[in-house]
Amino acid sequence: MAVKFLNFVNDQNEYWPITIEIEVLRGMPEFKVIGLSDRSIREVHERARAAIKNNGYKFPIHRKIINLSPAHIPKQGTHLDLSIILGLLIRSGQIIYSPNPNAIFLGEVTLNGEIKSVPNINGILEAAKNKNVKQAFIPKANLKETYIEGIDLIPVENLKELINTLHSPAPAKQKTKTFEPVFPTFDDIINQNEAKKALAIALAGNHKALLIGSPGCGKSVLAQSAQNLILNRPFISVNGDITLTDLKTKYPQSKHGLIVFNELNELNRKSLDHMKVILESSPDHTIIATVNPCKCGYHQDPYKVCYCTPYNLKLFKQKLSATLLDRFDIAIIIIAEPLVDKPTHELEETKRHINLVKKARRTNRHKSLKQLLPALDSKSKNLISVIEKKYSISNRRLEKLLQLAQTISTINNKPNLTEEHIAESFNLQKFLITHEWTKNN
Ligand SMILES: [Zn+2]
Repeated sequence: MAVKFLNFVNDQNEYWPITIEIEVLRGMPEFKVIGLSDRSIREVHERARAAIKNNGYKFPIHRKIINLSPAHIPKQGTHLDLSIILGLLIRSGQIIYSPNPNAIFLGEVTLNGEIKSVPNINGILEAAKNKNVKQAFIPKANLKETYIEGIDLIPVENLKELINTLHSPAPAKQKTKTFEPVFPTFDDIINQNEAKKALAIALAGNHKALLIGSPGCGKSVLAQSAQNLILNRPFISVNGDITLTDLKTKYPQSKHGLIVFNELNELNRKSLDHMKVILESSPDHTIIATVNPCKCGYHQDPYKVCYCTPYNLKLFKQKLSATLLDRFDIAIIIIAEPLVDKPTHELEETKRHINLVKKARRTNRHKSLKQLLPALDSKSKNLISVIEKKYSISNRRLEKLLQLAQTISTINNKPNLTEEHIAESFNLQKFLITHEWTKNN
């Protein structure tokens, strides 16, 4: 569903209420503003793209449609920027916020995401008050001149501050009781059933999952969609170009929730080193990271040719060292599914996975190897010794293998861990256990 915001535009010396609808759809990249807008509004495309990128988010690549209604009122003014940019971030699933119908967002946004003052703010606020608006996010630079009472004014200086404010406990009265999915959900994704199940398992037991695949295979969409399974929990999404300082600030915010790392291979060396610490010491965080299989992205792709030299391939794999990979619990290779629009009106798959995750998260606690090993039945012990012999795995890996098996048994409502759970756990870790990545192939 499109994200909707209320706003106001001046026509013939009067402010009129308008609705801004922001939609991101599958299809060719495009940015369209419809509904009698002037050039100042249509130019939001470039400001939005730069501001979103410069603040560490991804500008959605699909078709983006901004509809301003009612269509007969001519609309002008860059003060609509803030709603449009916020809507794009919400609709593309990068931030979670369900717009409050009694709140408005006013401000022109610069390429860096600074929020610039709006002319005649009192005129807009007066009209807003008459429309029963209770909360207005306004440019900080406008605060001194405002005199309208009865509206809760929240001054913001830049996009980051706004997003933090929306996520901070104080003004966020938006804890939704009913399920309101954010785009995309599992039901928006064709097939990829194994990957979906693996992500549900990761969330059920706060495991660390790695999705490997060529550009466009859908790994990022899968990772983002997992947030729907724990909708009222913290969700943070960061890109590979994040600085170490930002990483250190953002990561703790995902406690008891999910943090997604897009393009892990693009992290700089310092952040990658810190990533090892994070992966090692985060029992209360689910981590999903995506990564390309090589620099060009198409190593071992069934449909496209990889142009990396053996030397480049080696460098790429060295960067994501064995010690880093050893700290993941799950690794899945994602292969693009044919693009067919999946007409879903129901959220069956998503809801089914939500229930699995919810139940398991309540009861599932990681046990140590010492606690897990003696409790195994004889078939499970046999399977473990076969795996140990064949792959000579470390104690760390064995612990992860059993912890993941434990989550799988919990998700299946089974009190005891069996060899089937261990086998399923092994399949999810196979890539990490066989060290395929670090081999030179
Ligand atoms: Zn390549």
